[in-house]
Amino acid sequence: MQYSHSNRGIDVVWFKRDLRIRDHTPLANALSRGRQVLLLHIYEPTDLAHLTTSNRHLTFRWQAWTALCKEVRALNWPVQTAVLHAPALDVLKYLHEVSGIRALYSYQETGLAHTFIRDQAITRWVRINEIPWHEQRQQAIYRGLKHRKKWANDWHNTMRGGLTRASPGPNLERFEVPEWPPGWACVETPHVTHCNDPGGCGPFQKGGEREARRYLQTFFEGRVKGYRRQIGRPLESRKSCSRLSPYLAWGCLSMRQVYQTFQNADVPRAKMDLKAFGSRLRWQGHFIQKFESECRIEFESVNRGYADFPYHGTPESLAAWKEGKTGIPLVDACMRCVINTGYLNFRMRAMLVSFLTHHLDHPWQAGVEHLARCFLDFEPGIHFSQFQMQAGVTGINTIRIYNPVKQSMERDSEGLFIREWVPELVKMPIEYLHSPWTQPPMERLWSGLDLTYADPIVSVESAGRAAREKLWKFKKTNAVREEATRILRIHVAPSSLD
Ligand SMILES: Cc1cc2nc3c(=O)[nH]c(=O)nc-3n(C[C@H](O)[C@H](O)[C@H](O)COP(=O)(O)OP(=O)(O)OC[C@H]3O[C@@H](n4cnc5c(N)ncnc54)[C@H](O)[C@@H]3O)c2cc1C
Repeated sequence: MQYSHSNRGIDVVWFKRDLRIRDHTPLANALSRGRQVLLLHIYEPTDLAHLTTSNRHLTFRWQAWTALCKEVRALNWPVQTAVLHAPALDVLKYLHEVSGIRALYSYQETGLAHTFIRDQAITRWVRINEIPWHEQRQQAIYRGLKHRKKWANDWHNTMRGGLTRASPGPNLERFEVPEWPPGWACVETPHVTHCNDPGGCGPFQKGGEREARRYLQTFFEGRVKGYRRQIGRPLESRKSCSRLSPYLAWGCLSMRQVYQTFQNADVPRAKMDLKAFGSRLRWQGHFIQKFESECRIEFESVNRGYADFPYHGTPESLAAWKEGKTGIPLVDACMRCVINTGYLNFRMRAMLVSFLTHHLDHPWQAGVEHLARCFLDFEPGIHFSQFQMQAGVTGINTIRIYNPVKQSMERDSEGLFIREWVPELVKMPIEYLHSPWTQPPMERLWSGLDLTYADPIVSVESAGRAAREKLWKFKKTNAVREEATRILRIHVAPSSLD
């Protein structure tokens, strides 16, 4: 039976990367205007098959969604909820056929190409069926933005705006959800359908607004002190950084909530720490906007001048990097840590990418999906832009090639992080821990140490030198320079170029 368009039918709030009920404008609008409201979350087959998706993401979403439903029940809102495993367009078509959709409410998603293609198909379908789709802008991310003249201002204004509060309007009434086709209703967390999941023993941060608020609160209660000093250290940063990234990436918190808490924070002797944290909040929006404005960077370097950049990495070195078996202790510790916990601080993420693309000579595309799967906070906008920055293919940023031995001595001077994640080196004397290959072979044999740790896959010094020469040479080509001018025009505020 085809439902004919009328003022009847249900209002659907489609939750994507916005798994919260606080400061959620589409939800607030639907509750105030709607009569029969369905809160919907969908695990789409294209997403489950995508190589950036991992089971830790799906579990985090599940935890966040079930926490959201529990809260809705506790609030006694007369709405229905559903979590389904099916293509989003099929779900909407089915709902429209059996119940009629009066209006669709959601946030605009700055997502991967497959979500954009899906949204285009849904746009065509809602138009044909005369269903209003109220798509709300996420924070200050603008579709089709061609320059950044006013962006920073708009971002600040959005962040200072009032938080929306959802409360059921007078017309809301309870209704029966339709019976879903077989296999659609999820009763437990779905799993990815590819075979590249990183696994990992955890524990991972848990999804949900309550958990998110706990991290927010403890950060401003004291963890923020020392933020600036510890942010570069793989061990200490786990406590001194906010750890809000998965909650922002999956929307258990809005950036506006975080920004306003930050603005009101009064933490003695943490002025500089707070300042450093505040700039990073804006960077989040900056990178997502960059991806929104130029989404081809999911596949190609933002600077097209690097399309022919020569790489000579081997499948063996790529596999060793992915498994944390390169023979460079800090690189391996970082990789094993992120596989098992889903988190790594900024500098160590940058170092992993630098090592892959510069020392091991692989294009950024070779590792971008692997780390996306490992990062619990995978956020396409930040991830693809940052990956390319660290790989040195933007043509506008300073070329940075991290020396992992130097990083190790500076950021993990006592080797606590390395010993935690590379058990083969637990007994290695500290003087050799950062570069075990410097231990004299005879001493190594006699010491009774575990000898299973791999020899270094490359010479850090000579591979770094070769990469530097190659990158600088390329940066001076006309193609790279012309593209750099274009990138500055689109993605950088004119004032910051003065
Ligand atoms: C190669 C690479 C890939 C990355 N991929 C992601 C990703 O997929 N998702 C993600 O959220 N971050 C990513 N980052 C940025 C950064 O490493 C993380 O945001 C940060 O480590 C998260 O920890 P935190 O929440 O404790 O951050 P805090 O230092 O406490 O910062 C607070 C928030 O600010 C934002 N932020 C912090 N640093 C940056 C930055 N450099 N760029 C943009 N936003 C920032 C994040 O939303 C973060 O949660 C990536 C960095 C690199 C080098």
